[in-house]
Amino acid sequence: MPELPDITVYVESLAAKVHGDTLQRVRVTDPFVLRTALPPIAAVEGRRVLGVERLGKRVVLELQGEAGHPLFVVIHLMIAGRLRWLSAGAKPARGALASFVFGAGTLVLTEAGSKRRASIHVVDGRAALAAMDPGGIDVIASDSIAFARQLAAENHTLKRSLTNPRLFSGIGNAYGDEILHRAKLSPIMLTRKLGPDEARRLHDAARAVLGEWTDRLRAEAARSGGWPDKVTALRPEMAVHGRYRQPCPVCGAPVQRIVHADNETNYCARCQTGGRLLADRALSTLLKASWPRHIDEIE
Ligand SMILES: [Zn+2]
Repeated sequence: MPELPDITVYVESLAAKVHGDTLQRVRVTDPFVLRTALPPIAAVEGRRVLGVERLGKRVVLELQGEAGHPLFVVIHLMIAGRLRWLSAGAKPARGALASFVFGAGTLVLTEAGSKRRASIHVVDGRAALAAMDPGGIDVIASDSIAFARQLAAENHTLKRSLTNPRLFSGIGNAYGDEILHRAKLSPIMLTRKLGPDEARRLHDAARAVLGEWTDRLRAEAARSGGWPDKVTALRPEMAVHGRYRQPCPVCGAPVQRIVHADNETNYCARCQTGGRLLADRALSTLLKASWPRHIDEIE
C-alpha cells in the first residue's frame, strides 16, 4: 500500500502539473470506485484546482466551489491502486477505473488485480473532508512529546501502534518495518513498556526513515519526467521489509518474518530482539519443538 513517502510524492508531482489548471472532465469507468453520490462527480467538472494535499494515505484534490466553499476529490489507493499521468494528447490508458482530464493532461486511477478496493469520494467543504481524517499525527512535523503521547494512548505492539492510522498518519506495513529496524526495537514490544529514551529513538527513526524515503522517491520521480511511475512497497534499498532471509544491511543476519493473515512483519533478530526469534502462530504450531529459538541456531 502506498504510504506517506509515496503519497507525498504523488501529491507534489500532481500539484506541479495541475495547480491552477481546470478539471475539465471526469470519466468513471468502474462505477464501484466512486463511493459517494452527493455531490455528484459532475459537480467537480469545470472547476479550478486550488491545491493538492495528503490526508493519511489518501491523495486529495481541492477544487474551487461556490462562495469559498471548496469541493474535494479524495482518492484512496488502498493496496494496488496507482495514479498515472498522461500528457495532453496521449492515448487513453487501458484498465483505468477513472480519469481526470485537465488542460495539461490526464490523471488516471488504475488498480492491479480483480479486488476493487481503491476508492474515490467527492466531499463538499473542509469540515466534510476533516470527517474523513483518521486523526493520526504527522510524525515528521510532530515533536517527541506528541509522538510519545500517541504511542502511550493504547497498549499494543509497536508494529500495530505505528501502523494505526488513528495514531500516526501514513505509516503502513513497509515503513513500519523499516522504522522499527532503524530504531533497533522489537515489533512485538508493547508500547507501554517503552522508556522515554526508546520512545525518542523511535521518533527519530520514524522521521529519518520517512524523510529519507520521501527524498529518494522524489528524486526518482524527477528522473522519470516528474511523475512517480514505480510505486511499490518492495524495494531493494529497504533494510528488512520484503527481504525475508536476505542479509540485514547492518549486521548481516538473515531477515526474519512473522506471518499474519494477509501480510507479514519483517525484522532482524540480531538488531531488534537481542537474537530472539519471534514465533508466529502458524509456524510455531507446525514446527513445535523444532522451532528455533535463537538466531544462532539458524545462521
Ligand atoms: Zn541486523
